[in-house]
Amino acid sequence: MKHEVVIAGGGPTGMMLAGELTLVGVDVAIVERRAKAELVGSRAGGLHARTLEVFDQRGIADRFLAEGQKAQATGFAGVHFDLSGFPTRHPYSLALRQNHIERILAGWVDERKVPIYRGIEVTGFAQDDTGVDVELSDGRSLRAQYLVGCDGGRSLVRKAAGIAFPGSNPTTSNLIAEAELAETPPEWGIRRDALGTHALGRVEYEIRNGKIVYADHGPVGVLVTEQHVGQTTEPTLSDLSAALITVYGTDYGIHSPTWISRFTDAARQAASYRKGRVLIAGDAAHVHPPDGGQGLQTGVQDAVNLGWKLAQVVKGISPESLLDTYHAERHPIGARVLRNTMASIVLRREDERTKALRDTIAELLGMDEPRRRFAAMMSGLDIHYDLGEGHPLLGRRMPDLDLVTENGPLRVFTLLHDARPLFLNLGEPGGFNISPWADRIQLIDAEYVGSWDLPALGRVIAPTAVLVRPDGFVAWVGDLSQRGLTAALTTWFGPPTAA
Ligand SMILES: Cc1cc2nc3c(=O)[nH]c(=O)nc-3n(C[C@H](O)[C@H](O)[C@H](O)COP(=O)(O)OP(=O)(O)OC[C@H]3O[C@@H](n4cnc5c(N)ncnc54)[C@H](O)[C@@H]3O)c2cc1C
Repeated sequence: MKHEVVIAGGGPTGMMLAGELTLVGVDVAIVERRAKAELVGSRAGGLHARTLEVFDQRGIADRFLAEGQKAQATGFAGVHFDLSGFPTRHPYSLALRQNHIERILAGWVDERKVPIYRGIEVTGFAQDDTGVDVELSDGRSLRAQYLVGCDGGRSLVRKAAGIAFPGSNPTTSNLIAEAELAETPPEWGIRRDALGTHALGRVEYEIRNGKIVYADHGPVGVLVTEQHVGQTTEPTLSDLSAALITVYGTDYGIHSPTWISRFTDAARQAASYRKGRVLIAGDAAHVHPPDGGQGLQTGVQDAVNLGWKLAQVVKGISPESLLDTYHAERHPIGARVLRNTMASIVLRREDERTKALRDTIAELLGMDEPRRRFAAMMSGLDIHYDLGEGHPLLGRRMPDLDLVTENGPLRVFTLLHDARPLFLNLGEPGGFNISPWADRIQLIDAEYVGSWDLPALGRVIAPTAVLVRPDGFVAWVGDLSQRGLTAALTTWFGPPTAA
């Protein structure tokens, strides 16, 4: 069986990547170990602003917004930031559990008719000059031009490709579970002590006036830090009970768990996101503590960075070297997430000196400039790819402006729904000629009368034109001289078509 691209793993990263590839007409298939689409257990608790923007760029943000609850949940080391007033259509986080996020993504991938080989594992592969033979656990194999490992932190694809995964070993170990409690604890919510952070709360809750109000009945989500690091067996109910007794003095009669899992604060990142025809994305490329809720966001955004590039290479529009920009752009973003989660872990400690440090950081983050910068970082809105010197927009996300076009009002993000590159001429209509790329890039003449505000940076000078990549990042900013335009068009969207 043949596909242009095979994705190992149908978690959030793999599904997003598959959706992206189909938008550009790539024949892609997912191989997913889980037999059923439903995610048992819960991991991520929501979406941050940039991820919501990314979904908005594809016209699917409303599906998530319809089910989640808006909250000001972006934070660092216990300090929460209020994004109201940030220049984005989504100045908040969305509380929505990962099982729902995955269900909604699965619905999108389904509509896009992505074949999914379910209940099957990728067990190995062999790559040659023209493609990759992907071995499956049922004895079959798939031939593809490229294989992408979106197969989570223990990624087989990463290991089999021989990609190193350097980083730090765990210093804490946590159990996370969903179960029933025979007794109601005197208090729901987070508890911190010398051992670490723990939390108990009903799975069902509402956010009222910015506060979590738990349901009166129903299963309980448990997070408890274990006394010892380094357990390698599957966690059991008695492990959970013992950990609760150590922290709370009782296990509240815990019983009937629907799932129990263990996670640590290990922080590791792949040395390379590509090895020939094999790429990795999401947790396969980076693992880190869940502090700040950044893992799923980073994976989805890896996928959106990679998708259009891989599509152009597969379709012969761009040379293979375009794929190297995936590592060049996304590795520093992953490294930054590792850095801020590692810092956050240290700041969680409950000794007097760490508390003093945490209070000092909180004081600093109360100041306007640091607060804005950290809020922009933790929400993903400040991501900046190094595309060289120039206008502040270069390498940053294109804001979702309200444009006026000859066909009426239009949002920038609406123009990105099909993942087609966009050349936006905001100056004299007809002032730019990109006809040798007209088969690949939409040229829109538009007017925009508002100000140009970027998160963290504030107001910037209005450009005359912008070249926007399918991932929503600005690849060229225009002035009247059109300097560098041909080079930018060729770098990102391939050589010009002969007239
Ligand atoms: C306790 C906890 C809380 C978290 N909270 C947040 C949060 O609030 N916000 C946030 O953004 N992130 C959070 N995360 C992180 C988030 O869950 C992950 O970053 C996210 O799931 C990564 O998505 P992924 O698709 O890259 O990998 P995964 O979700 O791990 O998906 C990998 C998929 O690959 C499949 N697979 C594995 N091996 C194979 C194989 N060989 N062949 C075929 N299929 C295979 C698996 O079955 C799985 O479906 C949290 C994580 C934990 C543990």
